[in-house]
Amino acid sequence: MAYGTRAAGHRPVVDLADRRALERWRPAEPAVVAEARRLKEAALLDFGLTESVVASWIYAKCPHQIPTTAVETAAVVAGGDGSCPLLYNPEFFVRLGLEGVKFVLFHEARHLVHRHLFADPELRADPVFTLAAEVSINHVALVRLGRTELPQIDGRPTGVDPREIHEDYVADLTAQGLDPLGYDDFVETDMTVFTELRRMSQPPVPAASCVHLTDPGTAGGDQETIDEVVSSSLLNSLLAARRGHPGAERELLDLMDRTDGTSEHASRVWGRLGAGVLRGETPRTRKVDWWQRWLVDVLASKLREGERLVYPKKRGALLAALGHDPMLSRRGPVRDKVLVIAYDTSGSMPDGVVSWLTELVGAIDGVVAHWLSFDAVVMPFRPGERSETGVPPDGVWGKVYGGGGTSFQAVADYVEGRTAVDGDHFEEIPDAVVMLTDGYAPHITPAEPDKWIWLITAGGDDWPDHHTPPMACHRVTTGDR
Ligand SMILES: [Zn+2]
Repeated sequence: MAYGTRAAGHRPVVDLADRRALERWRPAEPAVVAEARRLKEAALLDFGLTESVVASWIYAKCPHQIPTTAVETAAVVAGGDGSCPLLYNPEFFVRLGLEGVKFVLFHEARHLVHRHLFADPELRADPVFTLAAEVSINHVALVRLGRTELPQIDGRPTGVDPREIHEDYVADLTAQGLDPLGYDDFVETDMTVFTELRRMSQPPVPAASCVHLTDPGTAGGDQETIDEVVSSSLLNSLLAARRGHPGAERELLDLMDRTDGTSEHASRVWGRLGAGVLRGETPRTRKVDWWQRWLVDVLASKLREGERLVYPKKRGALLAALGHDPMLSRRGPVRDKVLVIAYDTSGSMPDGVVSWLTELVGAIDGVVAHWLSFDAVVMPFRPGERSETGVPPDGVWGKVYGGGGTSFQAVADYVEGRTAVDGDHFEEIPDAVVMLTDGYAPHITPAEPDKWIWLITAGGDDWPDHHTPPMACHRVTTGDR
């Protein structure tokens, strides 16, 4: 996915997965490398501040950013090791200047999003689709970055100009006696560009196409890595939007308008993400259940940025023993949010709910998750190690610990620091506590009820909804509504 490289399929001279080899390969002048790095940093800073929340997240997830002359331009390589190194030719960046570098980096980030949303191998094998992606991505880059022209190298524009492609399309269709779409309709969605280009008698072959790094000789466009990086970037952008970041909201809505409903896969991606909340969509009979959207929304509000005071329990106890007043210490504004997820092992758990939650929480950055299972007692566990800790796998939750009853108070006592498990106290103050339960146990009022989120399984009792004080509460529904 190198930007604007000629000769599609051009083999790189170095293994793009080998970071050291890339850096060693004919290094550019140190001053050029330094200037290119400065431009890249400045561009990424602007993304984070104003221009593209999604791109900012993507690059945050691509920590290896390597200046190398082994690529002609710039490329984000999806490596099989689960990382996406950004490779950039330092001379190319210096010649582009800051505005050009921004354009190219936005373009590359958007390629990953595009690839995530349109993963169908048949589509990807179609050269017209490759060109359509370039048209679409550059159209969006021009609009979002507020440009009228493509970036220039030595006074000449570089990359595919969507307006030129549209002119060729109009001429071709007119010659066939067909009605072409106007530019705005032509570029309306990523798929309209593709569909319309295919109406041409001679769809243009990409003159300057990205080297799609699915070439077996390269690091490969590992779909799993792309999906991982992009879906977690989209989720974090969604959370930012729900926390009141207008730029994130605009960008996501825009991206959804261009892609949702234009392919089954894209719709599934958006549905799974629960991004419909941004549009105020009412539940639809889709694969996603709207309690999932609700949870994303509620979590976003609970995990809002802000300073908080922490009570250092161990040190506090020591100070108290010495006769001093316990102190609250202030942590910096940038800190991880603490999330507790507690599963009731006494009821039956719908298939997939546990794994969905695990995936959701795992994809949120800046969150430290503590997983507990409970019946009458609390048992911390790590997701993925459930069997070792005695928690049954999805779908076969039953009364395996029977006899002890269920106690929400046991969870409250533990997360509020009153009781220990195996001699360890819970040392943190959670920002949110998610309880996944059928609700059947003595009701409780936690110390900070506004932090508690109750997910009530089928046939359960949603008492927290009308408790005093009421707590965030929603029924977990599964596909069979
Ligand atoms: Zn491209």
